[in-house]
Formats: sequence, structure tokens, C-alpha cells
Amino acid sequence: MTAPDYTELTPPRQALSPPRVPTRATLATPVRFLKGIGPSRSGCLERLGVRTVRDALLLTPRRYEDRRALLPIGRLRLGEFQTVAGRVKAIGLGRTRRGVPYCEVMLEDGTGTLLARWYRQPYLTRTFRRGQRVILAGRVSPYPPREMVNPEHEIEEGADARYHTGRIVPIYPLTAGLSQRFLRRWLADLSREHAPGIPDPLPPAVQERHRLLRLAQAVQSLHLPGEMTEASAARRRLAFDEFFLFSLAILRQRAVRTVEAGIAFRVPNALAERARALLPFTLTPAQVRALEAIWNDMAQARPMQRLLQGDVGCGKTIVAVLAALTAIGSGYQAAIMAPTEILAAQHAERARALVEPLGVPVVHLAGGITPSVRRQALDLLAGESPCLAVGTHALLQPDVVFGRLGFVVVDEQHRFGVLQRAGLQKKAVHPDVLVMTATPIPRSLALVLYGDLDLCVIDELPPGRRPVSTLWVEEAERSRIQAELRMRLARGERAYVVCPVVEESAAELKAAVQTADAYRQGPLGGFGVGLVHGRLPAAEKAAIIAAFRGGQTRLLVATTVVEVGVDVPEATAMVIEHADRLGLAQLHQLRGRVGRADQPAVCFVVADPQEITEEARARLEALVRESDGFALAEADLRLRGPGEFFGTRQSGLDGFALGDLTADLSLLETARAEATAALAEAPALEREWAGVRRAMEERWASRLGLAHVG
Ligand code: ADP
Ligand code: MG
Repeated sequence: MTAPDYTELTPPRQALSPPRVPTRATLATPVRFLKGIGPSRSGCLERLGVRTVRDALLLTPRRYEDRRALLPIGRLRLGEFQTVAGRVKAIGLGRTRRGVPYCEVMLEDGTGTLLARWYRQPYLTRTFRRGQRVILAGRVSPYPPREMVNPEHEIEEGADARYHTGRIVPIYPLTAGLSQRFLRRWLADLSREHAPGIPDPLPPAVQERHRLLRLAQAVQSLHLPGEMTEASAARRRLAFDEFFLFSLAILRQRAVRTVEAGIAFRVPNALAERARALLPFTLTPAQVRALEAIWNDMAQARPMQRLLQGDVGCGKTIVAVLAALTAIGSGYQAAIMAPTEILAAQHAERARALVEPLGVPVVHLAGGITPSVRRQALDLLAGESPCLAVGTHALLQPDVVFGRLGFVVVDEQHRFGVLQRAGLQKKAVHPDVLVMTATPIPRSLALVLYGDLDLCVIDELPPGRRPVSTLWVEEAERSRIQAELRMRLARGERAYVVCPVVEESAAELKAAVQTADAYRQGPLGGFGVGLVHGRLPAAEKAAIIAAFRGGQTRLLVATTVVEVGVDVPEATAMVIEHADRLGLAQLHQLRGRVGRADQPAVCFVVADPQEITEEARARLEALVRESDGFALAEADLRLRGPGEFFGTRQSGLDGFALGDLTADLSLLETARAEATAALAEAPALEREWAGVRRAMEERWASRLGLAHVG
């Protein structure tokens, strides 16, 4: 049976295609209006972030291949990727034994012959003609006779028309439905047509200072570089633009904030000083420096936005509490928002011990409290009288109203979405905000993620702390762990055993439950074994942690809920099961649960070296080798890349197509310095900065609305 012929029935093609844009395309023209881009291709391009001609011109190759050297066939080296030119001697269509069709072409050039084969592309037999000059780029078979399978091909029509061979060839990111050949040809043509007319918003002085290519040149070289160095100069210029526009956007945001009316708190503050005098220790010099920076901000009548960064155990909490007391002592309410119930409970308990004797009420909005207790707490917050509120994102619920909120602490901020951070701020008019994080962020990322915040760092631990010895233990060596735990528990110390789970589902929790049972029935059972995980009701969790803190149970089996912030100074041993499943930052956080007093502490990571991935091995080796959180964060960034480091979407990092945050730190710093200078010169970005301003707003305005509510 033959297929019916519909050709006569099909209406003329133009009738179906979208109306042609009568005028010439501009940079802002959506690509779907361009010739050759139908709805399906424009959909694919959209997945690559390409909507307009401008987006297309900025689509960055993943890498380049130098295919300039055209070798004679006789000089091809077996097994290597090379580019070769020759004449078509024969064309054939074949099928493999499994029925896969292929096109075969025999090429010759007087020095030898080469066979090229393309599988599943039988139509190629119609592309080639005998006697044609053809260029191929591909890997030559490792054994004679010389063959190339699925090489890139190009039919020579004059040197200018080369797209895929005979030049430095860009390799673009692809998505299903788009071919490398199509993209390459399309972008080469598009940049030839549009690049020369691209207006360059960057003032010439800035370009000269940093030896940047003109934008038109950069775009052209991105797609059609004559030399590899041109390609990298192009990338550098475009990366500079990204960093520069981004820096401008967040620095402007910050400038706007500084003119908003904030609260000038009373500094020095009698209440904070009284609390400080009651502490059982003196603050470390680093804590004092951080506190003074914060106080300095608080005294100003502009809203503080500060990031307090410091490795686990360095004592951020007390700094935050003293700052909160400064607000309270000035007649305002303060709130501390923690990422987990356990941590909120711990903050509340600590804060109570310190501040209730001073007459400051602490309101803990825990998950499990009764409606009447909650009602009472809400009434207190809605009033005008100063107090300290502590809670999780429960503080963000609409019925939580603050009468006089002036100071907000967000602890361990990376656990919160930026929207939540903004949510608490919205409960007050321009409060001072202190964001705390123990996840040490490499400097490049800090500039991006928190570029709108002022940064202070606590870079020393309280005296007497010793680094935790970290040991990687295999399944077979478990008895070592048992012996170590027995010794420590017998001395009255505490130990954690962590079973990683991803979603705390019932199935996953089984591992933790079984581990706890095994310890209860084993030789360590007599020391008291607790089990805590995310599914327990808040009150029960609190009771279990309290028993561990008090020493009634000395061994605590836990899921990763103990990861953040839990502080039990008597705990000196940490066992992390299946450590290969956790990220480096998490592992370091967990390890930070021990070594919080002056006894030597130990951390066992359990993983079978035979059964884990290369990357997991690299992580564990880094953990064993490094105790410094910043060094680990840098290692983590190298291992995982910036996208995954934080969870890209929430961070705004996906805004960078060209700038590589791991490699381009100095470029980012340069761009930021230029942005600072530009805003000093022209705060409203007027005159020669108008183009830059437009570009910045186009690129970042909508994104910043979300990513920088902080
Ligand atoms: P993190 O920075 O990880 O949040 P914490 O604030 O939980 O650290 O502090 C860790 C422990 O160190 C707490 O038990 C705290 O009381 C104690 N601590 C804080 N500052 C000092 C100090 N200057 N001297 C001694 N101990 C301190
Ligand atoms: Mg903490």
C-alpha cells in the first residue's frame, strides 16, 4: 500500500505561518518572528533562555574547538579528533544488521582515502554530490582503515561560508529539538547581521580602564572568534557586564534603603550592658568587633541590613541576643527567627535564662502550644511593651502581629527562602535586620548572595576549643566506634549518632528507629538512648533534647534535624552514618555539634570507600583534612559549582550566564568597584550612565524584586 498523496490538499504554506514582521528585526524582536524559527524551535530556544534577538546574541558557547588546521587525509592520526578536507568519490546508503540506516561517503584528496559514516541520517545521501569538496571534523577510528563516525560536515562553498569546520567552532548548550548545526549557523548569521549595530551602554572610560572589548566586537567574537584569545576576551567583556549590572542593581538597592527612615536605638545601652556583665564568660575579641559593628549600625537612623557570619560554635547567638537587648532596652520589640523547632526552643531557653532575670519577657511561639497560651503570647506581641519573641517561621503567620517590632534576627538564613526573610521584616516599618549564618560562604558567593548586606565575620572560636578529630571509618571497623563511645559515655559525656534521611518518610525513618533500638539493646543501652526526628511533635522533640542536655540519656540517635545550631556542650562524639549521602556543608554543620567545650571531641564518618562515588570520596577526604569551615566551603564550591551550592533558584545565581563565580572572583570585584564608583559619581545613573541604567533595569528589575527583598 502506498501512502496517499496529500500535496494537492495542503494549503499554501504561508497561510499557516505567523504573520511576517514587515520591518527589520531589532534586538528586542522575539526570535519566533525570525525566518526559520517556527513555534517548535522558539519553544526550544526559550528553554535555553532565548526569547529575543538580544538573548540569542548573548547565548554563550560552552566551549570552542579549533578546527582551523585542515589536514590532508594521508596525514590524519588514528584515534584523534581532527579536521580534514577532500573530494567526494562515492556516496552510499546502507543498513546495519539491526536495520539502522546510514549514509556513507568516501573522501579522497590524492594523499589517501577516508570513509565517513552517519547513522540514522539517510537523507544525507541527498546532501552530498560526487566531486564536491567537503570538510569533516571528527574522531578518526583508532585502527585502520581510516574512518570517521558521525563527523561534523560542511560542503565547501567558499571560505566565508564555513560554519562547522575550518575555523574556531563554538559548541553551544543544547536542548532537545535543537541541533548544534542549526544553532551554530543561525547564531553566526544573526551575529553577523546584528552585532555591529549593538549599542554599547558601558562608558568608554570604563572599557579602557579594564581593557574590555567593545560590546559589538565581543558579541561577534563570541560566535565567530578568529582566535581562541578573542573568544576568551569576548567572554570576559560579557561577564564583566553581568557582574557590573548586577552590582549596580544591588548597590542601588542598598542606597535606597539608607535613605529610608529607620530607628536610632540607644547605644550604649544599659540593658545590654547589664546582660553582658551577667555572662559566665567574656566575649572573644572577634565577638566584640562584630557587636560593635552592629551597635554602630543600630545607633544610626537608617535600617541596618547586616550579615553576621561565623563558623559553627563561634558564638553568634550571644552577639545576636545582646543586639536584640539593645533594641529592647530602647523600648522596642525584638524577634529571633530560627530554622527549626529544636533550635527555636534552644534559643528561647537560653534567652530566658539570661534576660528574664533582667525583667524582659520572652515569648516562645512554639508549634505545639495550646490555643490559650498562644492567644496570650499574641496579645503580648500585639501590645507596645518591649519583649523578645522567638520562633520558627510560625512567627510569619498572619495572626502574629507586632505592636512595636524594631529588630529582627534571622538565624541560619540559608534555610529560609528570601521571601520568609522579607515576611518578618514586613511586620515592622523598616526594622534593623541581622542575618546570621554558620554556612561559611566563599567570598565570591557572599558578594552575590548578600551583596546588599553589610558583612561582619566572627573569625575565632572561644578559647580552649580544640579541633574535632575526624575519622573515616569503614563498616568493618565499627568496633572502634563502640569502644570510643563507651569510654566517653562512661565519663558522663554525650554522643550523637546521625542517620541521614532526605525527607523523613516513614520508610526512611526506619533506619533511625532500628539504629536506636540496636543501641538500646546493646552494651551502651545502660547510658540511656534517645531518638529524635523531624516527624515528632514539637513538645516531644523538646523533651528528648532536654533529656539529652540534662544527661538522662547520654546517647542521641537523630536524623539531620540536629544539623543546625543545637548546642549541648557536654557532647563530645558524633557518629555520622552513611556520610556519603550528605553534602560537605551539612557534614561540617553536624561535626560542629561537638567540640563546643574544652574536652577533645571526635567525629566518625561511616562510609564504605568501595561503594561510594568519586565525588563523595572527595567530600569525605576534604572533611577529614580540613577543620576550617571557610576552606571547606571553597572546596565545596569547587566540587559542586555555584548553582548547587545554595540551591540556585532561591539565590538569584541563575542570573549569571557568563560569569563563572568560581573562576571570575577578581572580575566580580573589579565590576563591583566600578559600580560603586559609578553610583558615587551619578547616584541616579543619569547622563552617560543612562544606557547602563536601562540595561540594568531590563535585566534585574523583576528578578531583584524577588531575590533581594532582604
Ligand atoms: P554558633 O555561632 O554556632 O551559633 P553558639 O552561639 O551556639 O555558636 O555558641 C557556641 C557555644 O559557645 C555556646 O555554648 C555559647 O554559650 C558558648 N560561647 C559563646 N561565646 C563564648 C565565649 N566568648 N567564651 C566561651 N564560650 C562562649
Ligand atoms: Mg547558632
